[in-house]
Amino acid sequence: AAKSRSAGQTRFYTEDLRSENNPLARLQGLRDALSNHELSLHFQPLVTAESEQIHALEVLLRWDHPVMGRIPPDQFIPLAERHGLMELLGQWVLEQALKHYATWQQQGIAPHHIAVNVSPLEFQSENFVDNVRSALKKHQVAAQCLELELTEGVFVQQDVETLEKLDALSHQGIQLAIDDFGTGYSSLAYLKHLPVHKLKLDRAFVKGLPVNEADRAIVESTLALCRGLKMSVVAEGVENQAQADYLRRKGCDLLQGYYYGRPNDAQATTQLLIQQKVR
Ligand code: C2E
Ligand code: CA
Ligand code: CA
Ligand code: CA
Repeated sequence: AAKSRSAGQTRFYTEDLRSENNPLARLQGLRDALSNHELSLHFQPLVTAESEQIHALEVLLRWDHPVMGRIPPDQFIPLAERHGLMELLGQWVLEQALKHYATWQQQGIAPHHIAVNVSPLEFQSENFVDNVRSALKKHQVAAQCLELELTEGVFVQQDVETLEKLDALSHQGIQLAIDDFGTGYSSLAYLKHLPVHKLKLDRAFVKGLPVNEADRAIVESTLALCRGLKMSVVAEGVENQAQADYLRRKGCDLLQGYYYGRPNDAQATTQLLIQQKVR
């Protein structure tokens, strides 16, 4: 009973947070959160389908508010976007992510790369490419060790500026992934001539595997498409062995989800990297 009450409270507070007449809606809270160390990074492993070894880590932002508790990123990231804080927040995430990655490299336990989510608003910023470049330099991490996860919307926007940015990032050696693939409304034409290396199949299509016929059709045709385009595929939201087995059998390259590990804080992630054992 206590648990359901606290869940209810969380909902109450977060709804409050969203309303415009709450002073918190101005997100002084989020500004302060950066300086008060209320924000931190969690890391979730991506494993190779074949060997189930840790191949990469995705960075997921967490906000632990002193009164409201943990606020999910799905709620505070749109707020940060609306209040013009996303560039600042995104740069902070990138810097922290590279700092952690550099430490793991020094310890000799770093995975192949680290994947960082980028909000479309952050990507649109004029300085984005330069910011990424200087963060890599500052933390002495090779561009090949960084992957940026962008949502479909960014790729579909075929204006000159977007294309130039994607090319500039790719030429540096940074990997680019399409996040939440299949949830947008885009045609597939953009895949043909954009420097995209990887596609992340949204967990909505993984959920019903291996039973649901529609999910199977979508997943199989996406895998075939990516084979043709020489892109690798990550399945998101893998929660059980039946899903993992199916995806491996169909040739999916990488798997990510609770079955292989939930997002963990840096300390637990270090332990995980030392043990190199996800299951
Ligand atoms: P996303 O990029 O699609 O991240 C995957 C989300 O699915 C994460 O939720 C993760 O915890 C969750 N997840 C992973 N495996 C499973 C699974 O097996 N089952 C289920 N049901 N869920 C799973 P999270 O951490 O709450 O993040 C939500 C969204 O917030 C992310 O979706 C991303 O769009 C955004 N986000 C998180 N951190 C950042 C960040 O640093 N920058 C930006 N721009 N966005 C972020
Ligand atoms: Ca992501
Ligand atoms: Ca995703
Ligand atoms: Ca998502």
